[in-house]
Amino acid sequence: MTSITPKITPIYQTSVFKFQDLDELDQYFQDTSSRYLYSRNGNPNSDELVNAINQLEGGAGAVATSSGMSAIFASILAYCQTGDHVLCAADIYGGSAALLNTELSRMGITVTYVPFEQLYSLGQFVQPTTRLLLAETISNPLLRVADLRRLATECHNLGLKLVVDNTFATPLLTKPLSLGADISLHSVTKYLAGHSDVTAGAAVAADPEVAARLKQIGVFYGLTLSPMESWLAVRGLKTLRLRVREHCHNAQAVAEMLQQHPGVRAVYYPGLPDHAQHALAKEQGGGMFGGMMSILLEDDQEAVSGFMRRCQRFPFAPSLAGVDSSLSYPLGTSHRALTPEQQRDLGITLGLVRLSVGIEPAEELVEDLRQALG
Ligand SMILES: *Cc1c(COP(=O)(O)O)cnc(C)c1O
Repeated sequence: MTSITPKITPIYQTSVFKFQDLDELDQYFQDTSSRYLYSRNGNPNSDELVNAINQLEGGAGAVATSSGMSAIFASILAYCQTGDHVLCAADIYGGSAALLNTELSRMGITVTYVPFEQLYSLGQFVQPTTRLLLAETISNPLLRVADLRRLATECHNLGLKLVVDNTFATPLLTKPLSLGADISLHSVTKYLAGHSDVTAGAAVAADPEVAARLKQIGVFYGLTLSPMESWLAVRGLKTLRLRVREHCHNAQAVAEMLQQHPGVRAVYYPGLPDHAQHALAKEQGGGMFGGMMSILLEDDQEAVSGFMRRCQRFPFAPSLAGVDSSLSYPLGTSHRALTPEQQRDLGITLGLVRLSVGIEPAEELVEDLRQALG
């Protein structure tokens, strides 16, 4: 028989693995990492993804999940049970807030939102049952940057865990665990996979026991990732370094043009010197600022719709971080579920448009936006 040694891990498109006899089954239960049993518990493709992301984040172990949402869910459950309380940065992905408000609340886990300005003085928000703070390295949609080292110190002084959603930054800009965070999690759907063709997530822990707990939650709640999606994410991940470099380069060019444009009232991009956390972003991101930004147009629905219709290279598609550019509208999509008061407090108004700058030639993106602004 010809020996087959593929360079790339094949897709193990199987839900279950075979055992010769009971000895082999015993072998498995003596060391569950020695072979595979059932794909929900583990699969060569999801393990390859887990190992790659764990290494990038410098973790002690990780779980690959069916989505970013399930990574957030698993991370909160790793530390919390009924009766517990969590803190959450007010500037947070809309889905995270919806999960906390509508689902985790039913499980008896309560939440208090902390305004950005008060993230480093958490004492006033802490209750005896508070377990953790959930925050984003670079927030959505206003691109505010959290000082993770300071945040970790503040959390640990109060006996809290720090759970960081590192989706916007990627581990190439920032490795939260190295700055003291306890869990770093991702919507792998975004930069890590990078091609807008897979939904996936991952949560990485600094402590091996927490990593084992994340894995167990993944298996028991059925949150783990399928072989095909894992394989696609692994393939995307191989070019992360190249992609992120181009995303950053293009976003800087786009932001600098937009800042000069009379049709744009504000540009929120950490790479601009007048961004409120520019110095921190530069230090924490190793000189890279990512590919996401938001811009403020006229607070007028017709003006925004006209801009969207004229954009050729930025289709309105409510996601982000693909190699192809896109734009989104926080008020109507990610932050739709917030109360009008919350939306106003976060600066999410009628004119706010979020750009995900892709890896196309920078001058083509700049030119397209210029013509769309008129
Ligand atoms: C998209 C996103 C999520 C949710 O991830 P899904 O893969 O869509 O479940 C969580 N956090 C951030 C910052 C995101 O952008």
